Amino acid sequence: MINLVLFGKPGAGKGTQAEFLKFKYHLFHISTGDLFRHHISHKTNLGQLVQSYINKGDLVPDQVTIDILKDVVETHADAKGFIFDGFPRTTKQAEALDKFLSEKSMEISATLALEADDDVLVERLVNRGKTSGRVDDQDEEKIRNRFEEYNNKTASLRDFYEDQGKFHSVNGIGSIDEITQRLTALINGLI
Ligand code: AMP
Repeated sequence: MINLVLFGKPGAGKGTQAEFLKFKYHLFHISTGDLFRHHISHKTNLGQLVQSYINKGDLVPDQVTIDILKDVVETHADAKGFIFDGFPRTTKQAEALDKFLSEKSMEISATLALEADDDVLVERLVNRGKTSGRVDDQDEEKIRNRFEEYNNKTASLRDFYEDQGKFHSVNGIGSIDEITQRLTALINGLI
């Protein structure tokens, strides 16, 4: 079983690459951001709870996020493996994920970080905002806040996974195809 974490700043291409990798390696793709947006668009209680965090570009509280993640893993217990996209984003989430997986005799196989400079990412997000309909892509202040959240709460996960020998950096600049090839070369060397 392979379980991958796709890691990177907003706009790094995690969701785009997860779409390719899930087919190639038969993995179940879990994007906490997509799950939250689904709840918001269906006006569920959870959607109402998380909406203001997401629209401002703040992280959703850990426990809410951990609970939804566990719930999706549990309901897809027959999956051949998972690709986690946008989770974990805090040390508390990473620790909860390790504990949860180990209780199921599972573990993270590798964390793949898509690396790109902030100015490239901001430009990508502003462009995406023209068509994505995502409130948090619409103005630069919200985008900057998402980067701040990343720097303050998420960036340290690099050390968390490096300490486990599971952290791998990939150049996230280039065509979608080129980046997919870099990721698959790396994954093929790990499995
Ligand atoms: P994404 O689609 O991954 O860019 O996530 C969009 C937004 O959803 C983030 O800016 C957060 O508000 C929220 N979100 C997604 N994943 C998480 C997470 N693991 N922890 C906290 N908030 C999250």
